[in-house]
Amino acid sequence: MKEKLTSCPVCKKSAFSDYLEVQDHFLSKENFIIQSCDGCGFRFVNPRPGADDIGGYYQSDAYISHGVKKQDLVSIIYRQVRIFSIRKKFRIIRSLQPSGNILDIGCGTGEFLAYCRSRNYAVQGIEPSEKAREFAVSVNGISVSEKLDATLFKPGTFNCITMWHVLEHVHELDLTIDTIKSLLAPGGIFIAAVPNSNSWDASRYKNYWAAYDVPRHLYHFTSETMQTLAKRKGFAILKTIPQKLDAYYVTMLSEKYRTGRTNYINMMIYGFWSNFRAKTGGKGHSSLIFILSPEKAQF
Ligand SMILES: [Zn+2]
Repeated sequence: MKEKLTSCPVCKKSAFSDYLEVQDHFLSKENFIIQSCDGCGFRFVNPRPGADDIGGYYQSDAYISHGVKKQDLVSIIYRQVRIFSIRKKFRIIRSLQPSGNILDIGCGTGEFLAYCRSRNYAVQGIEPSEKAREFAVSVNGISVSEKLDATLFKPGTFNCITMWHVLEHVHELDLTIDTIKSLLAPGGIFIAAVPNSNSWDASRYKNYWAAYDVPRHLYHFTSETMQTLAKRKGFAILKTIPQKLDAYYVTMLSEKYRTGRTNYINMMIYGFWSNFRAKTGGKGHSSLIFILSPEKAQF
């Protein structure tokens, strides 16, 4: 069953305009409408598959490696990029929280958490996909729960809670952020990485932009709407960090969706151009990492 939102997930106003119609290029080939809130500009899929139906839009075992390391060039580059990306995420955390407890929501197969644990952090994960969760537990030895639930942990347990390209997938946006807030220790940070629907590559590829990824991505953030959401939920954005490699990956997929072919030359040209434009008067990089902290109570 599809559910139709009658109030904006961020500002709760109830007037929306159609923003863009996008096909699910990855799996179902169904079309979905992205609407934009007339009040705060937040973009979201509406109507959208309900929480009980969204599972049908995920290819549950697509990203599980089965232990066989493919030796073709793309697989080798993919593995190097993944290692680079894990280290970059880790360095961000270490610069802000030199030790402590990390909760990764949407931890997948647990490689990021395993890396953090090897650098002396205590780690916990949340992962709804059963196959990914079992892999994280059995192969990487991570403690992983299926769903985020405030009763799983003591309030104030974590120094850092991360959602790497996960916030745009959750149906219960308010509940998720409220729970995160309650689970953060004093001085703790919440890190949310999301695609930026105002990026240069989003405007180049329009309905073929791979990071719309409807209906799995329910929300399509921008720097402005993340700021509005943070403020409403009592967080301050301490810092915004670009994920520059995402421009290349998203461009590669978008080219494929638009033309039916993989084009590595266009990937390099337009991925580079997206990052260049983000720095020269554009509206930010293809993907952004937001570092948030609960605002201190105002007296
Ligand atoms: Zn709104």
